[in-house]
Amino acid sequence: MTDPTAAASPFDTMPPVGEADVAAGLTEVRASIARAARDFERDPDSVHLVAVSKTVPAEHIVPALEAGQRLFGENYVQESAAKWPALKERYPDVELHLVGPLQSNKAREAVALFDVIHALDRLSLAAALAKAIERAGRAPKLLIQVNTGEEPQKAGVAPDQLDTLLTECRDTHGLTIHGLMCIPPAEDPPSPHFALLARLAKTHNLPILSMGMSADYEAAIQTGATHVRVGTAIFGRRERKGV
Ligand SMILES: *Cc1c(COP(=O)(O)O)cnc(C)c1O
Repeated sequence: MTDPTAAASPFDTMPPVGEADVAAGLTEVRASIARAARDFERDPDSVHLVAVSKTVPAEHIVPALEAGQRLFGENYVQESAAKWPALKERYPDVELHLVGPLQSNKAREAVALFDVIHALDRLSLAAALAKAIERAGRAPKLLIQVNTGEEPQKAGVAPDQLDTLLTECRDTHGLTIHGLMCIPPAEDPPSPHFALLARLAKTHNLPILSMGMSADYEAAIQTGATHVRVGTAIFGRRERKGV
Protein backbone atom coordinates (compact mmCIF):
# COMPACT_ATOMS: atom_id res chain seq x y z
CA MET A 1 0.00 0.00 0.00
CA THR A 2 3.02 2.27 -0.04
CA ASP A 3 3.06 2.48 -3.82
CA PRO A 4 2.96 6.27 -4.43
CA THR A 5 1.37 5.79 -7.86
CA ALA A 6 -1.53 3.81 -6.45
CA ALA A 7 -3.30 6.96 -5.24
CA ALA A 8 -3.44 8.25 -8.80
CA SER A 9 -5.34 5.23 -10.03
CA PRO A 10 -8.99 5.86 -10.88
CA PHE A 11 -9.61 2.27 -9.79
CA ASP A 12 -9.06 3.06 -6.12
CA THR A 13 -12.74 3.90 -6.07
CA MET A 14 -13.69 0.49 -7.47
CA PRO A 15 -15.36 -1.80 -4.96
CA PRO A 16 -13.17 -4.71 -3.89
CA VAL A 17 -13.25 -8.12 -5.57
CA GLY A 18 -16.43 -9.85 -4.45
CA GLU A 19 -18.45 -6.65 -4.25
CA ALA A 20 -17.96 -5.28 -7.75
CA ASP A 21 -20.73 -5.73 -10.32
CA VAL A 22 -18.81 -7.96 -12.72
CA ALA A 23 -21.37 -7.94 -15.53
CA ALA A 24 -21.57 -4.14 -15.43
CA GLY A 25 -17.78 -3.78 -15.36
CA LEU A 26 -17.46 -6.10 -18.32
CA THR A 27 -20.11 -4.22 -20.30
CA GLU A 28 -18.32 -0.96 -19.62
CA VAL A 29 -14.88 -2.26 -20.57
CA ARG A 30 -16.23 -3.83 -23.77
CA ALA A 31 -17.85 -0.52 -24.72
CA SER A 32 -14.62 1.40 -24.04
CA ILE A 33 -12.62 -1.04 -26.13
CA ALA A 34 -15.04 -0.69 -29.03
CA ARG A 35 -14.99 3.10 -28.69
CA ALA A 36 -11.18 3.25 -28.58
CA ALA A 37 -10.94 0.96 -31.59
CA ARG A 38 -13.29 3.20 -33.57
CA ASP A 39 -11.51 6.37 -32.43
CA PHE A 40 -8.19 5.00 -33.64
CA GLU A 41 -9.67 3.58 -36.84
CA ARG A 42 -9.23 -0.04 -35.96
CA ASP A 43 -11.60 -2.96 -36.39
CA PRO A 44 -13.05 -3.59 -32.88
CA ASP A 45 -12.81 -7.34 -33.58
CA SER A 46 -9.02 -6.99 -33.85
CA VAL A 47 -8.80 -6.18 -30.11
CA HIS A 48 -9.28 -9.14 -27.76
CA LEU A 49 -10.19 -8.69 -24.12
CA VAL A 50 -8.39 -10.98 -21.69
CA ALA A 51 -10.29 -10.71 -18.39
CA VAL A 52 -7.64 -11.04 -15.68
CA SER A 53 -9.23 -13.04 -12.86
CA LYS A 54 -6.24 -13.60 -10.57
CA THR A 55 -7.30 -13.73 -6.90
CA VAL A 56 -10.97 -13.71 -7.99
CA PRO A 57 -12.96 -16.67 -6.60
CA ALA A 58 -14.79 -18.87 -9.12
CA GLU A 59 -18.21 -17.63 -8.01
CA HIS A 60 -17.28 -14.11 -9.10
CA ILE A 61 -15.86 -15.30 -12.41
CA VAL A 62 -19.14 -16.99 -13.34
CA PRO A 63 -20.99 -13.69 -14.08
CA ALA A 64 -18.33 -12.88 -16.70
CA LEU A 65 -18.68 -16.36 -18.22
CA GLU A 66 -22.46 -15.98 -18.23
CA ALA A 67 -22.03 -12.66 -20.05
CA GLY A 68 -20.15 -14.50 -22.78
CA GLN A 69 -16.56 -13.65 -21.81
CA ARG A 70 -14.28 -16.51 -22.86
CA LEU A 71 -10.68 -15.22 -22.65
CA PHE A 72 -9.34 -15.17 -19.10
CA GLY A 73 -5.93 -14.33 -17.66
CA GLU A 74 -4.34 -15.70 -14.51
CA ASN A 75 -0.98 -15.13 -12.80
CA TYR A 76 -0.49 -18.24 -10.73
CA VAL A 77 -0.36 -21.84 -11.95
CA GLN A 78 -1.46 -23.23 -8.58
CA GLU A 79 -4.44 -20.93 -8.24
CA SER A 80 -5.50 -21.64 -11.82
CA ALA A 81 -5.23 -25.40 -11.35
CA ALA A 82 -7.56 -25.09 -8.37
CA LYS A 83 -10.15 -22.85 -10.05
CA TRP A 84 -10.32 -23.57 -13.75
CA PRO A 85 -10.79 -27.30 -14.40
CA ALA A 86 -14.28 -27.20 -12.84
CA LEU A 87 -15.19 -23.97 -14.67
CA LYS A 88 -13.91 -25.39 -17.95
CA GLU A 89 -16.26 -28.34 -17.58
CA ARG A 90 -19.17 -25.93 -17.58
CA TYR A 91 -17.69 -23.58 -20.18
CA PRO A 92 -15.46 -25.76 -22.38
CA ASP A 93 -14.64 -23.05 -24.92
CA VAL A 94 -12.76 -20.91 -22.39
CA GLU A 95 -9.30 -19.79 -23.52
CA LEU A 96 -6.93 -19.53 -20.58
CA HIS A 97 -3.97 -17.12 -20.62
CA LEU A 98 -1.07 -17.21 -18.18
CA VAL A 99 -0.09 -13.53 -17.95
CA GLY A 100 2.22 -13.70 -14.92
CA PRO A 101 5.82 -14.92 -14.69
CA LEU A 102 6.40 -18.66 -14.91
CA GLN A 103 8.95 -20.75 -13.03
CA SER A 104 10.59 -23.47 -15.10
CA ASN A 105 9.53 -26.16 -12.63
CA LYS A 106 5.88 -25.27 -13.32
CA ALA A 107 6.24 -25.49 -17.11
CA ARG A 108 4.60 -28.89 -17.33
CA GLU A 109 1.54 -27.86 -15.37
CA ALA A 110 1.30 -24.58 -17.27
CA VAL A 111 1.42 -26.33 -20.66
CA ALA A 112 -1.35 -28.69 -19.55
CA LEU A 113 -3.60 -25.88 -18.34
CA PHE A 114 -3.06 -22.78 -20.49
CA ASP A 115 -3.78 -21.94 -24.11
CA VAL A 116 -1.52 -18.89 -24.24
CA ILE A 117 1.58 -18.14 -22.14
CA HIS A 118 2.49 -14.43 -22.14
CA ALA A 119 5.72 -14.23 -20.17
CA LEU A 120 8.43 -16.33 -21.75
CA ASP A 121 11.57 -14.32 -21.05
CA ARG A 122 14.60 -16.57 -20.82
CA LEU A 123 16.24 -19.51 -22.50
CA SER A 124 15.99 -21.86 -19.51
CA LEU A 125 12.22 -21.40 -19.52
CA ALA A 126 12.11 -21.94 -23.29
CA ALA A 127 13.90 -25.25 -22.76
CA ALA A 128 11.47 -26.32 -20.04
CA LEU A 129 8.46 -25.32 -22.16
CA ALA A 130 9.79 -27.15 -25.22
CA LYS A 131 10.20 -30.31 -23.19
CA ALA A 132 6.75 -29.98 -21.61
CA ILE A 133 5.13 -29.32 -24.99
CA GLU A 134 6.73 -32.38 -26.51
CA ARG A 135 5.68 -34.55 -23.61
CA ALA A 136 2.11 -33.24 -23.50
CA GLY A 137 1.55 -33.22 -27.24
CA ARG A 138 -0.11 -29.85 -26.72
CA ALA A 139 1.35 -26.46 -27.61
CA PRO A 140 0.07 -23.25 -26.02
CA LYS A 141 0.76 -20.10 -27.99
CA LEU A 142 3.87 -18.42 -26.63
CA LEU A 143 4.57 -14.71 -26.20
CA ILE A 144 7.84 -13.17 -25.10
CA GLN A 145 7.68 -10.56 -22.36
CA VAL A 146 9.87 -7.56 -23.11
CA ASN A 147 11.09 -5.40 -20.23
CA THR A 148 10.61 -2.18 -22.19
CA GLY A 149 11.54 -0.01 -19.21
CA GLU A 150 14.63 -2.13 -18.45
CA GLU A 151 13.58 -2.30 -14.80
CA PRO A 152 15.90 -4.60 -12.84
CA GLN A 153 13.13 -6.08 -10.68
CA LYS A 154 10.77 -6.77 -13.57
CA ALA A 155 10.45 -9.92 -15.64
CA GLY A 156 11.04 -9.74 -19.37
CA VAL A 157 13.91 -9.80 -21.78
CA ALA A 158 15.76 -6.51 -22.43
CA PRO A 159 14.78 -5.05 -25.81
CA ASP A 160 18.28 -5.49 -27.20
CA GLN A 161 18.27 -9.18 -26.21
CA LEU A 162 14.98 -10.01 -27.92
CA ASP A 163 16.56 -10.89 -31.23
CA THR A 164 18.86 -13.46 -29.61
CA LEU A 165 16.10 -15.03 -27.52
CA LEU A 166 13.79 -15.32 -30.54
CA THR A 167 16.49 -17.01 -32.58
CA GLU A 168 17.36 -19.42 -29.80
CA CYS A 169 13.71 -20.29 -29.13
CA ARG A 170 13.27 -21.12 -32.79
CA ASP A 171 16.58 -22.74 -33.68
CA THR A 172 17.56 -24.46 -30.43
CA HIS A 173 14.13 -25.45 -29.15
CA GLY A 174 11.91 -25.50 -32.22
CA LEU A 175 9.41 -23.16 -30.55
CA THR A 176 7.08 -20.86 -32.47
CA ILE A 177 6.71 -17.46 -30.83
CA HIS A 178 3.40 -15.78 -31.59
CA GLY A 179 3.84 -12.35 -30.09
CA LEU A 180 5.15 -9.94 -27.47
CA MET A 181 3.92 -8.68 -24.13
CA CYS A 182 4.96 -5.78 -21.88
CA ILE A 183 4.09 -4.05 -18.62
CA PRO A 184 5.32 -0.43 -18.71
CA PRO A 185 6.96 1.05 -15.59
CA ALA A 186 4.27 2.37 -13.24
CA GLU A 187 5.83 5.86 -13.17
CA ASP A 188 6.13 6.34 -16.95
CA PRO A 189 3.55 7.40 -19.50
CA PRO A 190 2.78 4.04 -21.12
CA SER A 191 2.51 5.01 -24.79
CA PRO A 192 6.25 5.10 -25.64
CA HIS A 193 6.57 1.59 -24.18
CA PHE A 194 3.61 0.36 -26.19
CA ALA A 195 5.08 1.96 -29.31
CA LEU A 196 8.42 0.26 -28.71
CA LEU A 197 6.73 -3.12 -28.28
CA ALA A 198 4.70 -2.58 -31.46
CA ARG A 199 7.86 -1.72 -33.38
CA LEU A 200 9.65 -4.83 -32.12
CA ALA A 201 6.68 -7.05 -33.03
CA LYS A 202 6.56 -5.56 -36.50
CA THR A 203 10.29 -6.02 -37.03
CA HIS A 204 10.02 -9.68 -36.13
CA ASN A 205 6.71 -10.30 -37.86
CA LEU A 206 4.89 -11.35 -34.69
CA PRO A 207 1.09 -11.01 -34.90
CA ILE A 208 0.11 -10.86 -31.20
CA LEU A 209 0.67 -7.68 -29.13
CA SER A 210 -0.36 -8.15 -25.49
CA MET A 211 -0.37 -4.74 -23.80
CA GLY A 212 -2.63 -2.49 -21.80
CA MET A 213 -4.26 -3.02 -18.38
CA SER A 214 -7.19 -1.33 -16.59
CA ALA A 215 -5.51 2.07 -16.44
CA ASP A 216 -4.06 2.25 -19.95
CA TYR A 217 -5.75 -0.14 -22.36
CA GLU A 218 -7.13 2.67 -24.53
CA ALA A 219 -3.60 3.94 -25.14
CA ALA A 220 -2.52 0.38 -25.92
CA ILE A 221 -5.31 0.04 -28.48
CA GLN A 222 -4.14 3.25 -30.10
CA THR A 223 -0.67 1.73 -30.48
CA GLY A 224 -1.86 -1.58 -31.93
CA ALA A 225 -2.64 -3.95 -29.02
CA THR A 226 -4.32 -7.16 -30.17
CA HIS A 227 -4.85 -8.36 -26.57
CA VAL A 228 -5.57 -6.09 -23.60
CA ARG A 229 -5.36 -7.63 -20.11
CA VAL A 230 -7.97 -6.06 -17.83
CA GLY A 231 -8.62 -7.15 -14.25
CA THR A 232 -9.58 -4.41 -11.78
CA ALA A 233 -12.00 -2.58 -14.08
CA ILE A 234 -14.03 -5.80 -14.41
CA PHE A 235 -13.68 -7.69 -11.14
CA GLY A 236 -12.89 -4.92 -8.65
CA ARG A 237 -9.91 -3.98 -6.53
CA ARG A 238 -7.60 -6.79 -5.44
CA GLU A 239 -6.42 -7.03 -1.84
CA ARG A 240 -2.90 -8.03 -2.79
CA LYS A 241 -1.35 -5.00 -4.43
CA GLY A 242 1.32 -5.37 -7.03
CA VAL A 243 0.17 -8.79 -8.18
C1 LIG B 1 -2.75 -8.12 -12.77
C2 LIG B 1 -2.32 -8.04 -14.17
C3 LIG B 1 -3.12 -7.44 -15.15
C4 LIG B 1 -4.45 -6.75 -14.84
O1 LIG B 1 -4.20 -5.57 -14.17
P1 LIG B 1 -5.38 -4.52 -13.79
O2 LIG B 1 -4.67 -3.28 -13.50
O3 LIG B 1 -6.07 -5.11 -12.62
O4 LIG B 1 -6.25 -4.42 -14.99
C5 LIG B 1 -2.67 -7.45 -16.46
N1 LIG B 1 -1.49 -8.02 -16.80
C6 LIG B 1 -0.70 -8.61 -15.88
C7 LIG B 1 0.58 -9.22 -16.32
C8 LIG B 1 -1.08 -8.63 -14.54
O5 LIG B 1 -0.26 -9.19 -13.65
